[in-house]
Amino acid sequence: MPAGAVAASAVLHKGEEPPLIGKHGSGAIFFSGCTLGCPFCQNAQISIDDLGSGLSDSELAGIFLKLQERGAANINLVTASQFTPSVIAAADEARGLGLQIPIMWNSSGYETPQTIKLLSNTIDIWLPDIKTLDSNSAGRLFDAPDYPITTRAAILKMADQLEVRGGTLIKNDLMKRGMIVRHLVMPGEIDSSREVFEWFAENLKDRAMLSVMVQYTPVNAAGEKLAGHDYIMPDSDYKRIMQWLEEFEIEEGFLQAPEAASKEWIPDFNRPNPFPEKYSSPIWHWRQGLL
Ligand code: SF4
Repeated sequence: MPAGAVAASAVLHKGEEPPLIGKHGSGAIFFSGCTLGCPFCQNAQISIDDLGSGLSDSELAGIFLKLQERGAANINLVTASQFTPSVIAAADEARGLGLQIPIMWNSSGYETPQTIKLLSNTIDIWLPDIKTLDSNSAGRLFDAPDYPITTRAAILKMADQLEVRGGTLIKNDLMKRGMIVRHLVMPGEIDSSREVFEWFAENLKDRAMLSVMVQYTPVNAAGEKLAGHDYIMPDSDYKRIMQWLEEFEIEEGFLQAPEAASKEWIPDFNRPNPFPEKYSSPIWHWRQGLL
């Protein structure tokens, strides 16, 4: 990717965890490219095919401010690691022009502690993924056997940064500062979910919430849903997940219902509104600009 930010879409998005959406939705900006590149990515149009258009730092700051003006609960930077310097510059500019809502880092977690340190004065809410802690699975699933070690270090650094800023702050049910760690349960990888819960309980239980997602929907390399591959988590797996959460006494967080797996979640970034209307209102599109 180039040095300056490239993005595909900005929307008011209601498909996030409850303390992140408020009345009008989270102000999500979907950046192009990704530091990881999973073959099952539902956003493959942008993460792998790099669909999107370049934005100057000032243009990006303008989108932040437009999202705030339209009632966004926060600025939700979706997969922006590859543009860290631009995002920091845009955030500084927007803060100087009146941006007050929290800024959220919604990432794969596959990034260096140095990146997290750079972001320490910019980010209020950390929203990293933790996909697996099994390096064989990480090698096989997305060709990154170092994912567990890299992501553990990054997430712990995020938790430290949050503590330095004063820890979690929730006002009127809206998160102003905090951390939610997302874990997507994958078919055939259920045992690695247990490992993730155990690590979370040992390291983060008192500092972060856990969001367990079961919306895995098989897609091809172009991000299209694979015909005949509907995946709904079996009841027995769902029960095991609930038992493990109880075993590790993880009480703060969110657990998706099994029926959340749906092709509705697969966006089309060629459309001004990539998501169904009930989940999102478009604010900016890479072809059309501000809407
Ligand atoms: S699933 Fe997430 S981490 Fe993997 S390629 Fe897509 S955006 Fe990147």
